[in-house]
Amino acid sequence: MTPSPRVLGFLPGGAAIGADGELVLHRRPLTELAGEFGTPCYLVDEDELRAQARRYLTAFRSRRTQSRVVFASKSFPSTPIYRVLAEEGLSCDVAGTGELELALAAGFAPADVYVHGNAKTEAEIRAAVEHGVGTFVIDNGDDIDRLLRWAPAGQHVMLRVIPEITVATHESMVTGQPESKFGLPGVQAREAIARLARSKLDLVGLHCHVGSQVLDLDSFARIPAALARYGEFAAYNFGGGLGVRYADTDDPPTVEAYAETLTQAAGACLPPSAEILVEPGRSLVARAGLTLYTVATVKRTGRTFVAVDGGMADNLEVVLLDLPMQPAIAARPDGGEVCDVVGRHCESGDRLVRGARLDSPRIGDVLVLPMTGAYSHTTASNYNGALRPPIVLSSAAAGARLAVRRETVEDLFARDRPATEEPR
Ligand SMILES: *Cc1c(COP(=O)(O)O)cnc(C)c1O
Repeated sequence: MTPSPRVLGFLPGGAAIGADGELVLHRRPLTELAGEFGTPCYLVDEDELRAQARRYLTAFRSRRTQSRVVFASKSFPSTPIYRVLAEEGLSCDVAGTGELELALAAGFAPADVYVHGNAKTEAEIRAAVEHGVGTFVIDNGDDIDRLLRWAPAGQHVMLRVIPEITVATHESMVTGQPESKFGLPGVQAREAIARLARSKLDLVGLHCHVGSQVLDLDSFARIPAALARYGEFAAYNFGGGLGVRYADTDDPPTVEAYAETLTQAAGACLPPSAEILVEPGRSLVARAGLTLYTVATVKRTGRTFVAVDGGMADNLEVVLLDLPMQPAIAARPDGGEVCDVVGRHCESGDRLVRGARLDSPRIGDVLVLPMTGAYSHTTASNYNGALRPPIVLSSAAAGARLAVRRETVEDLFARDRPATEEPR
């Protein structure tokens, strides 16, 4: 037996090495799935997604009966994903009417929906009120004005405060620092609390979110005390942000350690009857997803560039944040030559992985980019007229099936008005 290739440590539970040494998902070779569904393609291990949802629920409920796990749906806002997580009994965060409509259509009960946003529009608030959503998370005073206008008496709201906890992560993923655009700082938060207490709205609790891809528990341990400063409420939402393992050197806390840290810290300073909420995105969905590409060109110019048939149009966050991803050639997943995996878009910045190790990459190879369940589909664009990839769900019981089709050229024209039409 040769040892398993490194990439398996970054792939979902349904992935394995098949008889001839190539990567499979639920026993189907990835090369075969690429042939059936085309590339680029987002592939989701549904069993892994369900297992992670259950793991989260168990980790919190076993430590605190009054707790809720809320899917931070911006990480993967697509009907099949909403449907699976609604079935597993999670609640759901939305920002904007698009996410709201998707979440409700896929099966989330309005009562389990939390409406976020630092720039909620009047129309958005009205739509959410009409749907009877459970809770609005108020970001600012204008939100209060608008909710007073449109929400019914007794509408549950939470107030987002700035916890003044600056976590160690990428700059654009820090959200709880003193100068954050999200939530209200100390004095203004207190004023908002007083104003809400006198209003028809029912302030059930406080919310904060410190950032994303956070790999240390100390930052999370400080959250309950940061919220306790504002007094006693029925509920406290600690946000999301638990990091995942992209590189060999990343060592994220387990979901259980994260739950233990938060519930312990909450036990020390918050009312025992209060409900606690967490909003995982990345750590819930990242590992369940992978992206399949086809190698289009291999260029050796002193540096080896492996260019694939996608890139920043389908995995923008990977490119922008230079995430230390671990790709592999599906048919020969053991490492080898050091190369840069680049995309097909017209920018030098369009590089998916720097210094990847791939085994003799060549034209036509299927390349798998693991850990792309979070923030991939959601940031996809039509850059260079790219057609956004399909979403394929796979499970041990049902195999692989198309959940969302690839965009077509017709879709690119779908919103155009005829050039000959009279201007309106
Ligand atoms: C993005 C976001 C989350 C989820 O963050 P992850 O790092 O993906 O877990 C949770 N809460 C709020 C308010 C967010 O904006």
